[in-house]
Amino acid sequence: QSQEFSQVRIDYHGALLALQEHGTRMVCTGKMHTDRICRFDYLCYCTEAEEFVFFHSNASVMLPNLGPRRFQPALLDLSSVEDHNTQYFNFLELPAAALKFMPKPVFVPDVTLILNRFNPDNLMHIFHDDLLPIYYTMQQYSDLDDEARLVFMEGWGEGAHFDLYRLLSSKQPLLKEQLKTFGKLMCFTKSYVGLSKMTTWYQYGFVQPQGPKANILISGNEIRQFASFLMERLNITQEEGDDYIVVFKRTTNRLILNEAELLLALAQEFQMRTVTVSLEEQSFDSIIQIISGATMLVSMHGAQMITSMFLPRGAAVVELFPYAVNPEQYTPYKTLASLPGMDLQYVAWRNTMEKNTITYPDRPWDQGGIVHLDKEEQERILASKEVPRHLCCRNPEWLFRIYQDTTVDIASFLDLLREALKKPNLKKAKVASTVHPGRVREPKCQTSVQATNEAKLSVSWQIPWNLKYLKVKEVKYEVWIQEQGENTYMPYILPHQNYTFSENIKPFTTYLVWVRCIFNKNLLGPFADVLICKT
Ligand code: UDP
Repeated sequence: QSQEFSQVRIDYHGALLALQEHGTRMVCTGKMHTDRICRFDYLCYCTEAEEFVFFHSNASVMLPNLGPRRFQPALLDLSSVEDHNTQYFNFLELPAAALKFMPKPVFVPDVTLILNRFNPDNLMHIFHDDLLPIYYTMQQYSDLDDEARLVFMEGWGEGAHFDLYRLLSSKQPLLKEQLKTFGKLMCFTKSYVGLSKMTTWYQYGFVQPQGPKANILISGNEIRQFASFLMERLNITQEEGDDYIVVFKRTTNRLILNEAELLLALAQEFQMRTVTVSLEEQSFDSIIQIISGATMLVSMHGAQMITSMFLPRGAAVVELFPYAVNPEQYTPYKTLASLPGMDLQYVAWRNTMEKNTITYPDRPWDQGGIVHLDKEEQERILASKEVPRHLCCRNPEWLFRIYQDTTVDIASFLDLLREALKKPNLKKAKVASTVHPGRVREPKCQTSVQATNEAKLSVSWQIPWNLKYLKVKEVKYEVWIQEQGENTYMPYILPHQNYTFSENIKPFTTYLVWVRCIFNKNLLGPFADVLICKT
């Protein structure tokens, strides 16, 4: 652990001269603060003022140069959570000449990625908001390599899983608190500020009730590549072995009260070994080792379920919800399991029997207690059969219900699994191709008029260029025919490279025709240029 940056490795005098002469340079990507990542030369940080500083000189660059719009509301989001008003980044400005009157800067020689972790005490947040975004932001900029330095500015301590952040680069990550120990003014020789949001799939409900993001840009492939990277760094190799079920339990709250009964039922129903794990009883590494070979993961809703990304393809995820919590409204793990290419089966079970729940009205509010509320409000909550839709994060009814303990009704649980699960089969789960067809080539149409009310339209085309290099199980073509001026069209799915249409084709009419190729029912290619066909 290097608490000191070697000021020998860099030419200190040269660096100081460069900073004084050239000042800070910033070039960013992104039109909005929510999709912006900035690259800086000589971005500085004043540890006393707790402010980043941009030094202006004749050679400074600030792109985008937003003027006061830089504060509306900020230059960029420092965490991967979109537009969260506690996670904004900005800097103060000073003329480079002011350096003469300031403490001597300490230069950070490493290429640095500066960001906020969102909630480093919660495993879901650690993976979804921090690790995946950091990993793929680093992939985006080639100088953010294994030698890069991560700097976490959210101001928290290490948190429960700091070791996971350490896996992302060979250098010890720095916390905001530690920056003080280096000096009053730190200057990052080369740094990137901000995180890619490309990998996130869930929004936590700050402006609208929580749910999957509107435009998910990540697939199971990228999740699994990241999971493999972590497993490699953790020296976990998946061994061939027997099928088994993992019950991931919580030990302090949101308990499964009849755990032994549940384990026995699962083992009998599926004729498999069934094991339990918990964050309190196993190391994270050993849990990942176990999950990476499991056929099924069963758990109460909660952050520990993010580990389902380490399940093998074909495995099943079974998420349990306490009484009065509607699984449809809390779907971070369902969304993950359902990403194309994750190849996981997902089932949600919900406790519908009030007698099988244990509530904790007397606990502190953040563990779901409600005794601090009006009597009337308490009674309403106790009588309610479902938590109404709500915003994050302090809704007392939600917290009250989600921190209940549950006795799982074995009969309804097994019925659901029998109905919903295809037999989980790891050996059969093959990676499905995601190669899309190219455009069909040389599309042509020919027309003929048979009679005053009878005409024919023949359309033909050549196979997409990439098809001759592929083994595709099923190749089909889709043809759309629209009469010019109409706003509806007729779609046809065809097995061959030509077809003559005669139904609904009128003489002396202009038709617009689009053709595209489809692999294996759901891999759609682009349409070829529209054909204009006059009968
Ligand atoms: N946690 C745990 N066992 C418990 C309770 C919590 O391992 O009995 C972990 C949980 O997986 C998460 C963190 O502690 O990483 C915070 O849990 P919390 O209930 O606040 O969040 P949630 O799981 O609802 O996202």
